[in-house]
Amino acid sequence: MSALEDSSDVLVIGGGIIGSAVAYQLARRGMAVTLLDKGPIGYEQSTRNWGWVHQQVRYPHLIPLAVASVKMWEELSADLEADVGFIQGGNLSLGFDDADLVEFEQWRGTARDAGLETTVLTRDQVADTLPGMAWMEGTWTGALHLPTDGQADPDLVTAAFARAAERHGARIVTDCAVTGIDTAGGSVTGVLTERGLIRAPRVVVAAGAWSSRLTRPLGVRFPQRSVRSTVVRTTPVDPITPVTAWADGFTFRQDRAGRFVLAGGEAAIYEVDLDLFRDMHWFLPLAWRNRHWLRIHVGRHLLGDLAARLPGSSARREFWQRRRKIDPPADAKGVRETLGRFHRVFPNLGEVGMESSWAGNIDSTPDQAPIIGPVTGGPTGLLIATGFSGHGFALGPAAGRLAADLVLGDEPVVDPRPFRHARFAERDVPTVGVHRR
Ligand SMILES: Cc1cc2nc3c(=O)[nH]c(=O)nc-3n(C[C@H](O)[C@H](O)[C@H](O)COP(=O)(O)OP(=O)(O)OC[C@H]3O[C@@H](n4cnc5c(N)ncnc54)[C@H](O)[C@@H]3O)c2cc1C
Repeated sequence: MSALEDSSDVLVIGGGIIGSAVAYQLARRGMAVTLLDKGPIGYEQSTRNWGWVHQQVRYPHLIPLAVASVKMWEELSADLEADVGFIQGGNLSLGFDDADLVEFEQWRGTARDAGLETTVLTRDQVADTLPGMAWMEGTWTGALHLPTDGQADPDLVTAAFARAAERHGARIVTDCAVTGIDTAGGSVTGVLTERGLIRAPRVVVAAGAWSSRLTRPLGVRFPQRSVRSTVVRTTPVDPITPVTAWADGFTFRQDRAGRFVLAGGEAAIYEVDLDLFRDMHWFLPLAWRNRHWLRIHVGRHLLGDLAARLPGSSARREFWQRRRKIDPPADAKGVRETLGRFHRVFPNLGEVGMESSWAGNIDSTPDQAPIIGPVTGGPTGLLIATGFSGHGFALGPAAGRLAADLVLGDEPVVDPRPFRHARFAERDVPTVGVHRR
């Protein structure tokens, strides 16, 4: 590997949708930006997600960011000069009893206060919107409908942000892990990488699930956990609906090629590692509420973590090299159950095959909201944009803009206070309910 000794105005760690969007926003505003990823661009969460561009979030303070993001999605292909596959087909959350409908009405009020219009559909309206669907033998009572929600193609979006950032002069460096953040006199001075030190007065940590590990040696802590979730994609069928839909743990969208992207029917898997014990008190209330969806797994992940803590071990020396490309296995039982459920929901489609299945690790915070902005109690010049808790694809465009606003001291696109790092130290972390998009 050749050395990369150089300097930039801003270094961005992580080439997922968030880091790529931050780099794009900074580069187009004239900053000299270097974006570093330990592997290829978008290899972790950002190409493994369902592709939903949704605004229904459990943390109400997120709604303005989600609304700002959808406005950006509407223009994104033009802005990035690349097709991102955005379809504004709306989103439906199906309800199965009166309690669900009461909850939908409450959420509708919260959304309206934040400037987001939604409707609650009757059972018949749902049937009209999703023809041919026999969901749970038709036991739904209605649905919350967000007509401005949509979907996009995860295989296209992050790459499009990175290429657009490059066109504006950003340097994109892949297969080059950041091994540490360099500081002097209480300020950030750059990052240590596999290819040497790169200097910069500002560093944005957008390293997805790895972000807290990178900041911890500087005394900058925040709770962050991942759950593994499996996704299934079918072979193409004739177009049925552009709507993305969620009900009782099962979700689908039909992409432009006619393939259904499905999830649910299986538990989300909580991999046990040593950090789990450190952060447990933060996540227990959320885990308890979501206990029906979660399965605890003790295995190679924990062993790898233990080995990496042994002083002098190769597992420790090669920590980042061994994690260059994270490709967790799809849960075989979950795949079978998801496909079975799909066939029960759309009984008239006949035999539809599976094109592919995969899994991804969704990183999250205890309040299911990201951290965006400067760190508290750490070096000046260090910012975080991480912890997107299953919403980072949808929020990516506006989150990148907000992080860039905060790097440059520009007028923020939305109020950044709900996303401040300090909320954990202040214990100002609201309790959120069952995770449901
Ligand atoms: C199965 C699944 C379904 C999802 N569905 C949706 C959805 O429908 N809608 C939605 O909005 N969100 C969804 N999400 C969440 C969404 O994908 C994430 O919130 C979003 O992609 C997070 O982007 P990110 O850039 O923060 O992280 P990532 O995409 O994980 O990127 C982080 C990057 O940092 C790099 N990195 C880490 N450590 C280092 C280091 N030391 N040096 C250099 N680089 C490093 C990694 O290699 C990686 O490329 C889903 C996620 C999954 C896994």
